[in-house]
Amino acid sequence: MTTAGTGYSRAMDAPVDHSASWPYENGEPGRFSYARAAHPAGVACEEALGALDGGRALLFPSGMAAVTTALLTLARPGQTIALAEGAYYGHRVLLDELAPWGLRCVEFDQTAPPPAGADLILVEAPSNPMLTMPDFAAAASHPAPVVCDATVASPLRVRPLDHGCDVALHSATKVLGGHDDVLAGVLVTRDEDLHERLRATRHRTGMIASADTAWRVHRRLSTLAQRLDRQEATARILADRLRGHPAVRTVRYPGFSFLLSFDVADGDTARRVERAVRTIVNATSLGGVRSKLEARRRWEGDRCPPGLLRLSVGLEDVDELWADLGQALEAA
Ligand code: PLP
Repeated sequence: MTTAGTGYSRAMDAPVDHSASWPYENGEPGRFSYARAAHPAGVACEEALGALDGGRALLFPSGMAAVTTALLTLARPGQTIALAEGAYYGHRVLLDELAPWGLRCVEFDQTAPPPAGADLILVEAPSNPMLTMPDFAAAASHPAPVVCDATVASPLRVRPLDHGCDVALHSATKVLGGHDDVLAGVLVTRDEDLHERLRATRHRTGMIASADTAWRVHRRLSTLAQRLDRQEATARILADRLRGHPAVRTVRYPGFSFLLSFDVADGDTARRVERAVRTIVNATSLGGVRSKLEARRRWEGDRCPPGLLRLSVGLEDVDELWADLGQALEAA
């Protein structure tokens, strides 16, 4: 392929190998043989993700595919999964769906030790949308394996394996992908045996991210640090300003990263605020370059306060965001 005069450089944008299978070498499978097991774009992305978290990474087609793989690998019928209260509600929904397979879910306050009888622990650093941090020391000293969802922190702010967790989990749909145009998930481990068991589950179930997804996540990692620094700096300022606003009751912000939540008087007020924002998009999800706001009660029911609004801060100008929040709170 010639690139002269096009401004296109293969070094800047390597072609993606979309093969589903590769020829055997001398009659035997080579490094890549069938894409459900592994493919070049996936491996390249996993190497970068593993380096960020200090372990070996596996890429999945969504965050939920990653947590499903962790559950299928680590849990057995009759076992109890201890899930952090106020953590991503989808984890609770999934665990309830798996009840007929013999999994029992108990929720616990992750700022305190996990329940003694738990067989698997799922914490979140910080939890979405309640934004508490786990007591890592208490979780790590529990005999059960610990999976930590660090989607909101990203590996640039919290590396769960450094805190004694067995598995780090990310929805790469969020800040790792960063542009609301890719759905992906990640599991990272240090233990070789556990890594191979997770890989085997992924291979058998077929929950592997496509080459295009892997390429896109990999490419976005090159701007992760800059995006996160700026989103975090803006989130910090907005959290401070919201704390002084008369219509705002409670502000939750863990002091780092891009996500905060705050409460207005009640559920109806929250619905009016989300419909009144203009620069900020009224949509679900988090971690992208465009700021997003939504009333979480619609999804979470009693798991969160009725007036809770979740704000994911993007790359827009801080004063423009503040003006938008101000007019929306006023209009409500
Ligand atoms: N973990 C957290 C903290 C999330 O917020 C989400 C989705 O919102 C998930 C996991 C699930 O990820 P995905 O939507 O990529 O399946």
